[in-house]
Amino acid sequence: MSNIALEIAGLNFSYAKKKQVLHDLHFEVDAGQCCILLGPNGAGKSTLFSLITRLYAHKQGRIKLAGFDIQKQPLKALGHLGVVFQQTTLDLDLTVQQNLRYHAALQGMSRKKANPAIQEQLECLGMYERRTEVVRQLNGGHRRRVEIARALMHKPSVLLLDEPTVGLDVPSRQAIVEHVHQLSQDGHLAVLWATHLMDEIYASDKIVVMHQGTLKAQGLMADVIRQAQAENINDAFYKLTHS
Ligand code: ADP
Repeated sequence: MSNIALEIAGLNFSYAKKKQVLHDLHFEVDAGQCCILLGPNGAGKSTLFSLITRLYAHKQGRIKLAGFDIQKQPLKALGHLGVVFQQTTLDLDLTVQQNLRYHAALQGMSRKKANPAIQEQLECLGMYERRTEVVRQLNGGHRRRVEIARALMHKPSVLLLDEPTVGLDVPSRQAIVEHVHQLSQDGHLAVLWATHLMDEIYASDKIVVMHQGTLKAQGLMADVIRQAQAENINDAFYKLTHS
């Protein structure tokens, strides 16, 4: 059986009547794999996320989640997706638990199903003890953890994270990076993580480098460094995105 959780194949995209912004993208993320999407501003990372979440529809190419084509079987496909957007979308005046219950209700999850799912995810992220606190009282790192727990309540196969550590202090950032890698490994979860921070990458991660809508390199860190004929990943990123 295929282990591919996210498949992007031959993906092209243009915003209405504008020039093409994604050019023939091909890459895959396996179950249990963390894939770091690197690219400077304007590379097309947000556009790619908008297509995977179906905010926009693509006309050429294929996106599959857990084997389901997002155009042919959108409900099944999107049922396998969890997303953490760059801007926080929690209600600051509700408690951690109320935020998650509210989200579960919006997704049509019964209380009976939601309560253990909420407990499990908050425990995984070390936030269960803080479930009755109002989100406004939490620091940025803890709010992020709540958002990740919320994205995982329905047990998706693929988790998209759009620069989730922006604005966090170093210890909070490190904690999120560690948690997500752990979740990916333990939960057999495929993660697609957009960032521009090289220190968030683990040697075991897959890296996809995008520039001007084109995929410039992909593979483990060592492969990408080799492909770019560079000394290290910072140097490789510079070379791949300044041509
Ligand atoms: P990134 O997230 O990597 O910074 P984006 O996906 O935001 O890149 O942008 C890729 C390209 O698409 C850029 O040239 C940007 O100007 C263009 N673009 C992004 N959003 C829109 C939009 N809503 N309408 C038209 N062009 C857009």
